[in-house]
Amino acid sequence: MNADIYEIFNSIQGEGIYAGTRQVFVRFCGCQLTCEYCDTRDARAAVARCRIDDRQINNPLDVGTVIDAIDRLWTPSTRYVSLTGGEPLLHAEFIRELAERNRRPLYLETNASLPDSAETLADMLDVAACDIKLPEHRSTGDYDRLLDAELATIEVFSSAGVETFVKIVVLPETTEKSIGSAVFGIELIDCSIPLILQPVSPVNINPERLLGLMDFAGTHLSDIRMIPQLHKLLLIP
Ligand code: SF4
Repeated sequence: MNADIYEIFNSIQGEGIYAGTRQVFVRFCGCQLTCEYCDTRDARAAVARCRIDDRQINNPLDVGTVIDAIDRLWTPSTRYVSLTGGEPLLHAEFIRELAERNRRPLYLETNASLPDSAETLADMLDVAACDIKLPEHRSTGDYDRLLDAELATIEVFSSAGVETFVKIVVLPETTEKSIGSAVFGIELIDCSIPLILQPVSPVNINPERLLGLMDFAGTHLSDIRMIPQLHKLLLIP
């Protein structure tokens, strides 16, 4: 099985409940969404060559090549392989083969819009970091359908016993109303699923507004955290 991969590298996880942990990142090419705040635009389409540390090798890569790269980039403080993108669930069959052959814990970072792909991988993942997009992200022309798919994916992972949390990127225009459907949807699945509110980088949002969003979400969910992108504060790629 082959896949187009943008880059493979070792760094610090900058988002979510595992912010600060070392991970080997496998960044897949391709994404079906169009988020305005996207900071990995170059990975949304296929590229001819994949960067592995300071080397460039031709795409597509086979699973064995990716596992070799993971093993070479692994360090004593590294804890997870992060499957990221782009959108990694577009490569579910490749990830399934990788999961069968790789011996490291797997951490998925997904826009959560592909619940059928989530079903095929739910028994193989350790952590699922699932985005929920907001209308103001302009990720799609059919927001209600995207939200339904995201909530379905979260339910798949959560009910399968994958450690699951949700991340919502907060923009200056984000309001209680715009996060309301996401919060109510998570509450219906499991009110103990952690919700990370992540102010868009660079952070330039009134702190009172951020605290107000936390309190609104906290009325419905038990674990709300406000976490900015740590790797950008540390100036780490
Ligand atoms: S889902 Fe992720 S990779 Fe895709 S456009 Fe949105 S931010 Fe970018």
